[in-house]
Amino acid sequence: MDIPVYSLVAYLVAAVLFIIGLMRMSTPRTARMGNTLAAIGMLIAIVITLLLKEVLNYTMILIGIAIGGIIGGFAARKVKMTAMPQMVGIYNGFGGGGSLLIAAAEFFRYTDVGFTTQNSVTIVITILIGAVTFSGSMIAFGKLQGLVKARPITYPMQNIWNLVIFVAILAMIIYLIVSPGNIPIFIVLVVVSLALGVLLVIPIGGADMPVVISLLNSYSGLAGCAAGFVLGNMFLIISGALVGAAGFILTRIMCKAMNRSLGNVIFGAFGAVVQTVGAAGEEGEKVVREATPEDVTTLIGYAKSVIFVPGYGLATSQAQHHVAELANVLEKRGTDVKYAIHPVAGRMPGHMNVLLAEANVPYDKLYALDDINNDFERTDVAVVIGANDVTNPAARNIADSPLYGMPILNVDKAKSVIIIKRSLSPGFAGVDNPLFYMEKTMMFFRDGKQAIIEILDEIKNL
Ligand code: NAP
Repeated sequence: MDIPVYSLVAYLVAAVLFIIGLMRMSTPRTARMGNTLAAIGMLIAIVITLLLKEVLNYTMILIGIAIGGIIGGFAARKVKMTAMPQMVGIYNGFGGGGSLLIAAAEFFRYTDVGFTTQNSVTIVITILIGAVTFSGSMIAFGKLQGLVKARPITYPMQNIWNLVIFVAILAMIIYLIVSPGNIPIFIVLVVVSLALGVLLVIPIGGADMPVVISLLNSYSGLAGCAAGFVLGNMFLIISGALVGAAGFILTRIMCKAMNRSLGNVIFGAFGAVVQTVGAAGEEGEKVVREATPEDVTTLIGYAKSVIFVPGYGLATSQAQHHVAELANVLEKRGTDVKYAIHPVAGRMPGHMNVLLAEANVPYDKLYALDDINNDFERTDVAVVIGANDVTNPAARNIADSPLYGMPILNVDKAKSVIIIKRSLSPGFAGVDNPLFYMEKTMMFFRDGKQAIIEILDEIKNL
């Protein structure tokens, strides 16, 4: 196909906008602008593609845009922040499925007009990556949405079976490159590749699903990139490669933050298995100091410095606006207020940043783990709101804890600690938290939002 020069230039502009957009997304301050630039890039690419002469049927495209737009708009408004991971999961699947359909359509087209080696190679590779991304993402979505069992599904010699299936797929791919156009083998390739996607994701447990989602995100980019080669579309190649690389970098960041290797996530069958490891692995009675709203308010209200440590419970209780309000009240009283953000707090990357940005907390008040960990020992009160695993000192010193080795926020080093949660229940990793039983810790057993409302009520009396 001959692509007019103007569209090549427009594709290049769109790709540059994508790259600048991605760069701007690296800090919250410029992220909104980054998103806008990337969206403009995408708009340019769509308009230019629609102007290409090979578009045969604009009616079908308009119907697709209308249906997709309605579903996307509805999802953006209705889906709760805590359900974002599964939404991203299903969108990755659609990306992979789209690439799969493009490759299948091109396969049947070339079956009529004849294949070149480049066509057959790019088509079969797109089929494999697209199918694995589609079915794997659907299983990931099902697990996160509670439609499929979240615990790892394992059976004997699982990795060996997956390897056998992968070798069979490779054999079919080589066959279809050497003698392209064999429809029965092509159909078997699609079905077995879909099965491989399912088999790769079922042994991965709930705790690791967000890592898998970012990995599938990377695959969906690669599938798009491969589809770009099938169609000879430069923009699809560049944008797919960008998504693939960004998804992979995110996967590495998440693995590092959880102290897991990617191989261990994919082949380790580690899940959200609830365990009841004793506090710090010690025997003996564990004493909890339960606080009243007055105790908590007095401690916070007269503190010179306070660090808020948000976690998953902040998201479920939607306490972010009230926490921001409390921070304002404290600052007016002369308190130094900061927020400590752990990279895996909550249930998706950037979860806490998004929630606090929604409550208009200034970005310069948010501190990443490495930037704040040394401040805790100089801080009067650390207020933990619905966080658990990311504060668990067992990660430092209990070698058989599932959290062992994960970098944590040094909350236990603060002069006093207030923990707001509803009970002594463990967090995602399913392990007890020795922080609850420290002498300097007060447990304020409440729903996150309710707790802050009570403190806000009480602080007026100080
Ligand atoms: P967490 O360890 O899962 O603990 C959350 C705590 O919030 C629970 O102990 C729960 O205790 C409390 N909670 C729930 N609902 C609440 C409510 N309405 N009000 C107050 N508290 C409430 O959370 P985290 O410290 O944020 O750690 C995140 C965990 O998820 C880590 O293990 C991390 O590895 C994992 N993870 C995160 C990501 C990510 O991308 N962010 C990815 C993969 C895995 P109660 O039931 O007693 O209230």
